[in-house]
Amino acid sequence: MSRVPKGKTSSNGRALRVLYNCGKCPAYCCTYDRVNVTRRDITRLAAHFDISYEAAERRYTKITSGDRVLKHRKDHIFKKACVFLDQEKRQCTIYDGRPTVCRGYPYSLRCGYYDFLASERRRQCDDEFIPDA
Ligand code: SF4
Ligand code: SF4
Repeated sequence: MSRVPKGKTSSNGRALRVLYNCGKCPAYCCTYDRVNVTRRDITRLAAHFDISYEAAERRYTKITSGDRVLKHRKDHIFKKACVFLDQEKRQCTIYDGRPTVCRGYPYSLRCGYYDFLASERRRQCDDEFIPDA
């Protein structure tokens, strides 16, 4: 849920190289049904758009199975994606205002989807191949 390749930091403060590249990915993680938002996230969204907390909550979030999550809209690659995904550039349009859960994702040096994507691209000899998820 980040669209910029990230560095991680080890416990002794040294930079670690991540083994995925969001810039070569169609933003699969931004299609997850449940991108949970907290009150703090909604406050950040409201500040980002310069609207009230209530307006941000109503416009951009919904309740799914008891959790407040970001809304989706139809996507031309996957069935649907986060309402904030730029569907052409496959980048987050609210990068500085994105929810906390998006900031640390995938919380590891590897991304499972990127491993799958890279493997399928090697298999197909096509650097832009996008497998059916
Ligand atoms: S699915 Fe993985 S590689 Fe793709 S944008 Fe998300 S974190 Fe980045
Ligand atoms: S807020 Fe941005 S990073 Fe988070 S799911 Fe939506 S498009 Fe992706």
